Amino acid sequence: MKNELHRYSPTAQQIARAMERDELVMYYQPKVCLLTGNVVGAEALVRWNDPHSRVLSPSVFLPQATAGGLLHDMTVRLLDDVVAACGTVRRSAPDLALSINVAPNDLTSHTISSRISSYLSGGSIEPHELQIEITESIVMEKFNVVLDELSALSAMGIKVLMDDFGTGYSSIDRLSQMPFSALKLDQGVVRRMTTSSQNLNTVRSAIAMARELGMTSIAEGVESIDQYNILIATGCEEAQGFYISKPIPLDQFIQLVKQDPSFPSSQIGCVHQAIFNVLRYRKSLLDISICSALGSGSVAPSIADTHLSQSDHGFRAAQWYYGIGQLLNYHESFRAVEAPLTRLNDMGSALHHDLVTRKPSRMPSDRLRDIDLYASAVVVELQRLEAVLLAELV
Ligand code: C2E
Ligand code: MG
Ligand code: MG
Repeated sequence: MKNELHRYSPTAQQIARAMERDELVMYYQPKVCLLTGNVVGAEALVRWNDPHSRVLSPSVFLPQATAGGLLHDMTVRLLDDVVAACGTVRRSAPDLALSINVAPNDLTSHTISSRISSYLSGGSIEPHELQIEITESIVMEKFNVVLDELSALSAMGIKVLMDDFGTGYSSIDRLSQMPFSALKLDQGVVRRMTTSSQNLNTVRSAIAMARELGMTSIAEGVESIDQYNILIATGCEEAQGFYISKPIPLDQFIQLVKQDPSFPSSQIGCVHQAIFNVLRYRKSLLDISICSALGSGSVAPSIADTHLSQSDHGFRAAQWYYGIGQLLNYHESFRAVEAPLTRLNDMGSALHHDLVTRKPSRMPSDRLRDIDLYASAVVVELQRLEAVLLAELV
């Protein structure tokens, strides 16, 4: 059956007819938050329910639809479906997000962003309910056009996810210029991570990089418990794949959401990321001190900015602590992190202020000593928390 479908190659005309007859439908593949175990949304994936009762996958008809100039029309229709689905999903779970895949040509014509803009202004959807997925290699090929369009979507509050990360050749420079809120690790990368430590390190680095750039990480193509567990350990935030669920029709997805299933989860990987981040924070303060001492007192804006508050709660470890980390507030060892963390944040701000304004109230070396003291205290408390979370797992 699979081989037969592989050989099946519909013409553009057949696909156009299928579109008119509404035979193209969206299936939804659940995404699970690895920190809470909850379903947080789904990716919409197109299927063709053909007249012979077959469910055809996009690889059978997307290439011909693209070559026949039908893709844009298709995306517009499918977007309407996904927006309608957002309304249905909202009745059972108002916080969920549905993502839709878009092709580069969809973005060059500006139709998608203006359509989404009118959905938003008309009240059909809230910005958090719809997300856009775009493939890494495509983004890099059409960088400038895509950048404008994705920036417009992002300004509307629509999250943009970079799909199939690891298959293209994006430089970290270009990646950081794009308004992505998440990196979706390609399924090949996810599959290979169980085969060698080098491959696993690729995943670890991608997750750490995503976090440094202020993005979340989503693993796709998760097929086994081993892969799922490694992702929890690394601090990856979300997972999607056959191990959790195949793509399913909307009514089945709604049923699943109503059952409110709880998948295995832990924040232990995030705690490790927080330790790592505390050390990076300390280093960024040290860097300002080094540049300040070496130069004539001034420091380059980029160096001065690296640690600046990215939110009310300062650096990323603190953002995690006051964000999703709060779910661990019932642990005494979690609450024990707060005092040194607050001191570290305050010391960092004071040192930063002294160096950037060049009006030191204390010797930078004294301040650095305090920073080391509190950074070490935070690390010790976070390691205790790791031990508590580990005990919870076994
Ligand atoms: P994608 O966006 O990277 O979607 C993930 C693909 O991986 C889907 O294939 C999904 O069914 C499959 N998948 C999910 N979990 C697993 C797993 O655990 N193991 C394996 N082996 N595969 C898994 P699908 O639905 O055949 O879609 C293929 C590609 O076609 C998508 O890749 C996307 O690039 C494109 N596509 C799908 N729907 C649309 C659409 O509505 N519009 C556009 N423009 N492209 C679409
Ligand atoms: Mg996708
Ligand atoms: Mg993908």
